[in-house]
Amino acid sequence: MVKKTNKNPPTKRKAAPTQRKQTKKTKAKAPADKSNFSNFEPYKIKRGEKYLNESQEKHLKKILIDWRMNLMEEVDKTVNYLQDEASNFPDPADRAAQEEEFSIELRTRDRERKLIRKIDSTLERLEQGDYGYCDSCGIEIGLRRLEARPTAEKCVDCKSLDEIRERQLGN
Ligand SMILES: [Zn+2]
Repeated sequence: MVKKTNKNPPTKRKAAPTQRKQTKKTKAKAPADKSNFSNFEPYKIKRGEKYLNESQEKHLKKILIDWRMNLMEEVDKTVNYLQDEASNFPDPADRAAQEEEFSIELRTRDRERKLIRKIDSTLERLEQGDYGYCDSCGIEIGLRRLEARPTAEKCVDCKSLDEIRERQLGN
């Protein structure tokens, strides 16, 4: 929750609607949720190319690093956004709306931080050659899936099974 003393208490005009409009107008745009990264050129697989050869690894590594950078920027933007927007609304409804908005922002930032940690550990695995094969059954996760989900640790089938199990456990 953000509390800030208001140095300029609002004057008692009843022109609340116009005031509110102004706040809306100057409002910074909330940063977008970047839980998925798609800003890359799909890799062109040459015939007979080995799975996760050097250039495929380089390609995936670049996606991970770009994605990480992108997330870091989003985290920064969220921080700036929260600072810019930390104004004191005299109207309790406005204040409540802002607090709600802030808590959504903070959750988004939390998710972004977790993703960054996940990307870091993925980059580490890539470095150690422990990457691209399913943790459960050992098959190739596949380049296309890794492009779409570079942090994937399981193949589509095992991942789906996990999700079904989770649902059955009433998670
Ligand atoms: Zn699997």
